[in-house]
Amino acid sequence: MKYAFIFFSLLYAGFPAFSSEFNPEPAVKDGIPAGSEFYLVTSTDRDFMGKLENVSDIAYDQGRTRLIRLKIPYEDLSPELKAGLKRTERGEAHNYRVSLKTGELPKPEVQRLVSGVSAESIMKYAGKLVYAGKRSSSQLDVKKGSGNKLAMDAVEEAFKSLGYAVEKNCYRDRKCDKECNISGLKSSGSPEAGIILIIAHLDSVGHENAGADDNASGVGGLLEMARVLAGFKSDHELLFVASNGEETGIAGGYAYVKKLKASGTLGRVKYVINMDMIGWNKDGIVELETDKEFLEHADWVGVQAYLYTKLKPYVASPAWGSDHVPFLEEGIPTYLSIEHWETHSPCYHQTCDQMEGLAWDYAAEIVKLNLAVIAGKTKLEI
Ligand SMILES: [Zn+2]
Repeated sequence: MKYAFIFFSLLYAGFPAFSSEFNPEPAVKDGIPAGSEFYLVTSTDRDFMGKLENVSDIAYDQGRTRLIRLKIPYEDLSPELKAGLKRTERGEAHNYRVSLKTGELPKPEVQRLVSGVSAESIMKYAGKLVYAGKRSSSQLDVKKGSGNKLAMDAVEEAFKSLGYAVEKNCYRDRKCDKECNISGLKSSGSPEAGIILIIAHLDSVGHENAGADDNASGVGGLLEMARVLAGFKSDHELLFVASNGEETGIAGGYAYVKKLKASGTLGRVKYVINMDMIGWNKDGIVELETDKEFLEHADWVGVQAYLYTKLKPYVASPAWGSDHVPFLEEGIPTYLSIEHWETHSPCYHQTCDQMEGLAWDYAAEIVKLNLAVIAGKTKLEI
């Protein structure tokens, strides 16, 4: 009876997904000439956006995916503008709602797993980072015992108390060698096992007691996933990485890929999940951002959202601007889970990005989704 009820509520809740919202080919806005060259916007800097506005038309704008057409030759752009644009074919840019295929049913064991997620627990983990102080990695070498260092310590402590093997991956950036990614590993017991890597950045742009949504929320989600999975055995290694220096050029993400390459383990990484800004919700939409090679994988992830969460999943492509990018560049199936970009936190990168006002229940839904993805790709046993 319960099963039938779930099935019918799913049908009901998911009904709009059967309509024709799938739009892999973005419609370009009126007035954009055929044969135009398009660029994906990969910067959110206000100054940058202001300057870009003067020399471009918006051709496509949905969620994370914004294409522009230049009104002046690319060669005439300043280096600053060039750095925030990526040449992209119109057909490569996507932003569409995932459609639920009929006949798919949730698995009771996955439902049980995701029911262990606690919004309050995510909030508590996130709070430890936010109240650590200024968390920009660029402030590390300025002030001893900075918020960034305290945030690294808090993550290390959380992994240890959950029984994960902790490792610090410190790398040299901006002449500072105190900048570290903090990882927690659940080993499968086999040196050949595939690895599922879950990543979220612990640094912020550096305002005092801020960076709650960006990205204490994602690290809260990361630690909550580690907490829920702590009691399980897996046939894959589960590698949780709280990355550093994301706000200063995805430094930690690139350093971590380099480390995996150097140790010969990058080839064992089967899937990567990134959480960056999962705490602001206006409409229940989650964007799953990847590159064109992995649209099918992202679609499958979106289907898990229908089966195990209340989220409305959209797939966005190409990828830009967070820790999923270095892994995608290595050809690893990777997605970013992020709040709907059209309605993202109004306090993004500002002092008001505080704990108050964040939607921890929504963050919990994203954590449930990412747990369901792990359950779908591995064998989990108690
Ligand atoms: Zn971020």
